[in-house]
Amino acid sequence: MDRRHFVRDLARLSALAATTPSLWRLRWRPAFAGDPFTLGVASGDPTASSVVLWTRLAPTPLDPLGGLGGERPVVRWELADDDKFSRIVKRGAATATPELAYSVHVDVGGLRPGRWYHYRFMSGDAVSETGRVCTAPDTHDQTPFSFTFLSCQHYEQGLYTALHHMSEEDVHLAVHLGDYIYETAAPAPGQMGNRVRAHVGPNIHTLDDYRQRYALYKSDPALRRAHAHYPWLLIWDDHEVDNNYANLINELPAQENEAVMRVRRAGAYQAWYEHQPVRLKPIAHGKSWTDYRIYRTLEWGPLARFYALDGRQYRTDQPCGDGSKAIPCDGYDAPGQTMLGAAQEQWLYNGLAHSHAQWQVLANQVVFSPPDEPPKAGDRVQMDNWHGYPAARDRALAAIATHAPGRTVVLTGDIHDNWVYDVRRGFDARDRPVIATEFVGTSISSGGDGSDTIARVTPAYLAANPSLKWANDRRGYVRCTVSESEWRADYRVVPFVSQPDAPVKTASSWRTERGQAGVQKI
Ligand code: FE
Ligand code: CA
Repeated sequence: MDRRHFVRDLARLSALAATTPSLWRLRWRPAFAGDPFTLGVASGDPTASSVVLWTRLAPTPLDPLGGLGGERPVVRWELADDDKFSRIVKRGAATATPELAYSVHVDVGGLRPGRWYHYRFMSGDAVSETGRVCTAPDTHDQTPFSFTFLSCQHYEQGLYTALHHMSEEDVHLAVHLGDYIYETAAPAPGQMGNRVRAHVGPNIHTLDDYRQRYALYKSDPALRRAHAHYPWLLIWDDHEVDNNYANLINELPAQENEAVMRVRRAGAYQAWYEHQPVRLKPIAHGKSWTDYRIYRTLEWGPLARFYALDGRQYRTDQPCGDGSKAIPCDGYDAPGQTMLGAAQEQWLYNGLAHSHAQWQVLANQVVFSPPDEPPKAGDRVQMDNWHGYPAARDRALAAIATHAPGRTVVLTGDIHDNWVYDVRRGFDARDRPVIATEFVGTSISSGGDGSDTIARVTPAYLAANPSLKWANDRRGYVRCTVSESEWRADYRVVPFVSQPDAPVKTASSWRTERGQAGVQKI
């Protein structure tokens, strides 16, 4: 290290020490029992001038606090133009603390727009693997960009072959739509069933449980590699806390009341923050994480604004006790139903009204598109997705129709299948023009191998549902390529996840033209 860097680092470390309460616990040269970087590195939430870099020290990842305890190791980081770190652009240091499970989030600013960088962390003698990250372009740069979107990576139900292929893609960003972890207990001995591998621990409820579950998921090298390869934008869905929870209402409210859910959600939300490369502030030590805002935007130059939505924390309870229910039933038509909550709805609609980005992109949890025919008495409706919240969906559709018709794309996960939809106005609108496109992406692993078709999606079904263009039940992810005039989506699928080494292929490709209604097969 040259003298100039040394002096600058010394100044930074002194500043760090001055702001760290337990200075006596600081470990400038920590020694670890094993590699502290077992959970890998990650980056996320790029802007045109900054990126968030993440790691978490955990020499024994499945132990509480990753096998560390009490001390506060100093973690240095470097960001460079090249992967040999011969042209270092920025460097600094952070303190890893037990209060946040020794996770580190560094917001590196002062970077150039539209550039790739390499980064790594160091603590004591340990050096992490190297990650790649890029900044978003500046506000005039119309260069087309690509990204992948993904969801639903149940650890037991399939191998992460799709993540392996995803990290080979030449793209700028990954957008994860939730179900990063699943909360269910490890199988009883001899009860492996179709699982390819087993969860560790009980059905997770406590902060320590959630931390251990994230550490287990990140023990998969394909997941770590996909994070290291390019920056991610992450939201959460239900399984980051509990299946189909709504706000503070558990899937089985008789078993867990709201007081229990407050504690559970606090642990789940804190562990999510600790394990993800997000530009968000942690809740102050000693305060509750039960309420934690994650909805935010990501701007990709003039081309796209992503709205990273939270469809779980603020929603009203699913009507009629959740599940698939015949209508009419109590509350289904209630105008007060909301998926996003009043404040987030207003934030979204204001954003759509004022953003000049050519594409408005909703990073959304659950299926959005309204059906072609209004549901009749006796029809069954899936209450957990937007079908169960028709009044809330009509408000969102009206905002899209008013502010961004023909240039809105909805990205969706949750249902472990691929679907392509024209999004039409709701039944509150007289003519129901196509105003947007919804790309529903399948799971990475949830649901197992799957098949090329979905039994109920017959030619007759497609004819009766003209807004639905295509469906497929393989595992994989979606690669999108976005230019000023066209949005292209390639559905990338693997034929199996029960065995290793599945190849990847494009099952189907779609395009939607900005300003033109309707998605077309390529
Ligand atoms: Fe899922
Ligand atoms: Ca889900």
